[in-house]
Amino acid sequence: MAAEIQPKPQTRTPVLLNKIESSQDVVNTAVIIPKEDGVISVSDDRTIRIWLKRDSGQYWPSIYHTMPASCSCMSFNPETRRLSVGMENGTISEFILSEDYNQMTPERTYEAHQGKVTVVLFVLEMEWVLSTGQDKNLTWHCSESGTQLGLYRTIAWVSGLQFDVETRHVFVGDHSGQVTILKLEQDSCSLVTTFKGHTGNVTALCWDPAQRVLFSGSSDHSIIMWDIGGRKGTAIELQGHNDKVQGLCYAPHTRQLISCSSDGGIVIWNMDVTRQETPEWLDSDSCQKCEQPFFWNFKQMWDSKKIGLRQHHCRKCGQAVCGKCSAKRSTIPLMGFEFEVRVCDSCHESITDEDRAPTATFHDSKHSIVYMHYEPTTGWLLTSGADKVIKLWDMTPVVS
Ligand SMILES: [Zn+2]
Ligand SMILES: [Zn+2]
Repeated sequence: MAAEIQPKPQTRTPVLLNKIESSQDVVNTAVIIPKEDGVISVSDDRTIRIWLKRDSGQYWPSIYHTMPASCSCMSFNPETRRLSVGMENGTISEFILSEDYNQMTPERTYEAHQGKVTVVLFVLEMEWVLSTGQDKNLTWHCSESGTQLGLYRTIAWVSGLQFDVETRHVFVGDHSGQVTILKLEQDSCSLVTTFKGHTGNVTALCWDPAQRVLFSGSSDHSIIMWDIGGRKGTAIELQGHNDKVQGLCYAPHTRQLISCSSDGGIVIWNMDVTRQETPEWLDSDSCQKCEQPFFWNFKQMWDSKKIGLRQHHCRKCGQAVCGKCSAKRSTIPLMGFEFEVRVCDSCHESITDEDRAPTATFHDSKHSIVYMHYEPTTGWLLTSGADKVIKLWDMTPVVS
């Protein structure tokens, strides 16, 4: 008698610590303040709020500041307590927060864009404020003088921006699915390269300066790991989401990637394993296993009096095969396929149970995530949802 196969219950899961739920609108960006039981949030409801944990165990605002327009994005530098907030009207406003997080002093305003600021990034080492907007401009300003230093025109809206301090490279992910690498100088920039691997918008970027690896997440549900430091052009796909990828964070101490999607899924990827690139799909006029012609191969269909078949591809070897020769499904975790995909019969035989051991864990945040932030010193994760709720999670059971 065949034993019933039950999926192993996930014994180690993120622990929900707290919920913050009094925003009138969606919180577009929120961050955990390191070394402090606090959260900074900016919202479509035009507010900047600093939440501190009270003796009751609940988070209450110590600062509640209303801005002239919806707040679309934010960058917080804990060392200088500098908060840069991008708004719907194209302006970036900067504040310095007091040591006890009870006061906020306006520092500077940048008229950075025509239209919504989509990403803002303060780089302390350069004293630069990088930003992108709905006007498809990437600009950088000097945070000391407030003057604009440079401008670069992107081909589409930008939703992911990362900066490598050591080499002054900026990574720009846009709505065309493209990632552009630029080298920034004080007042000019040069295009280094562009690469494209996604079929949808790039929605998130995450740069790991230690391994020199860039992760890109997309509305096509996939994540690609671009090995830039390896110089071999390796690009590895990670398929573990059923919806738009909305956020990516890398935990360097444990070499784990945390990703989230708009269906509420949180996936923790073990990046300490040697992963393989997916093969190129081969082209053939007939099945590369049984040699039956594919439907456009009229000559062979006529000669051998056979019915043409539909072409499929084995995800492991890339061969063009018919449905009959690729009826089986398997996960291939080391190729990034954490979900079952089509494989040919011979590949199915070659995949061992060991090969099928998952390299990621899957969790449900139970809200549609719009933004995510990971704080490595406490091991806490913040998720902001379309339900206007911020959730704080202890990730140490799974990121360790
Ligand atoms: Zn076949
Ligand atoms: Zn195969």
